Amino acid sequence: SSSGKKRYNITLLPGDGIGPEVISIAKNVLQQAGSLEGLEFSFKEMAVGGAALDLVGVPLPEETLTAAKEADAVLLGAIGGYKWDKNEKHLKPETGLLQLRAGLKVFANLRPATVLPQLVDASTLKREVAEGVDLMVVRELTGGIYFGQPRGIKTNENGEEVGFNTEVYAAHEIDRIARVAFETARKRRGKLCSVDKANVLEASILWRKRVTALAAEYPDVELSHMYVDNAAMQLVRDPKQFDTIVTNNIFGDILSDEASMITGSIGMLPSASLSDSGPGVFEPIHGSAPDIAGQDKANPLATILSAAMLLKYGLGEEKAAKRIEDAVLAALNKGLRTGDIHSAGTKLVGCKEMGEEVLKSVDSQV
Ligand code: ATP
Ligand code: MG
Repeated sequence: SSSGKKRYNITLLPGDGIGPEVISIAKNVLQQAGSLEGLEFSFKEMAVGGAALDLVGVPLPEETLTAAKEADAVLLGAIGGYKWDKNEKHLKPETGLLQLRAGLKVFANLRPATVLPQLVDASTLKREVAEGVDLMVVRELTGGIYFGQPRGIKTNENGEEVGFNTEVYAAHEIDRIARVAFETARKRRGKLCSVDKANVLEASILWRKRVTALAAEYPDVELSHMYVDNAAMQLVRDPKQFDTIVTNNIFGDILSDEASMITGSIGMLPSASLSDSGPGVFEPIHGSAPDIAGQDKANPLATILSAAMLLKYGLGEEKAAKRIEDAVLAALNKGLRTGDIHSAGTKLVGCKEMGEEVLKSVDSQV
């Protein structure tokens, strides 16, 4: 363009509960951090989840999926609430999220677990163990035992019911998640730990073989392997040993929840879901928190940090991402805390005030 600015299209999906509150703040922060780096965003806001059900009767309207596909990245708030809990499966808000992920083919889920120095006491672990934890779990999201065939419940020859699932990974599925993980490790501290159960599971044997072969293309990344049972233990024994962890769908489901609890602050944790070529979905790991929705109590930092991940992992705009991360730290350093991270000696603020402070901090970095 004539202004020489880089332009990006962002589709915003505020969703339900506290979603709209945190998205409107994250949008402003994203816009401001971007503009300081010469980026111009064009935002399109679309309905998803319960909001879409109320509006048009489906949790992921066709126009919403189209707008998501056409965007450079998608920033999502949260989905669900008591109101729709009794709906049939295809009319549940959460089904809209699953359809969005499937429609965008996002196979790589990135979940950082960082213990910030200002929030060490929120950790479920002892201070000396928690201090300095900064790790990222890269979870395969579209394959493995959650989707593998055959699956079902059958009656066997003795007339007894048998339930079964199948862990299936094709070489190309392992390679593409491993590539995302190596690239992620490269943007971090250059250490990658691949977690599997190769002493027992066939799919894990192939997993380890493919990841090991790919390592030759990433000589700057230090690769190690760990069995999942040991990894679960090491995560609470000495989480500082980890930088980037890559693992399959089911192990990643469990380990990423375990890792997030180390930090103890659900209102602080962002996530990214990435595909090969299309836009990624960036969202806080928390839910719609209907208990505090509309009360200006939500912590907007998880969504603001998701906007930072959007810049870093979705658009490759690392400088603008860093501006947001620094602004979040600056707001915390001033002692501002929302209810979920509040402790003695800090200042209790609402969602808006926290957002305003982060926005001011982005500005003062010029
Ligand atoms: P979901 O099934 O969508 O993950 P959930 O009910 O399991 O939802 P959340 O909606 O994340 O979990 O809420 C869990 C608790 O954490 C609630 O008490 C909620 O108020 C609180 N909470 C979640 N997100 C935030 C936030 N951003 N700021 C403050 N409190 C939050
Ligand atoms: Mg839940």
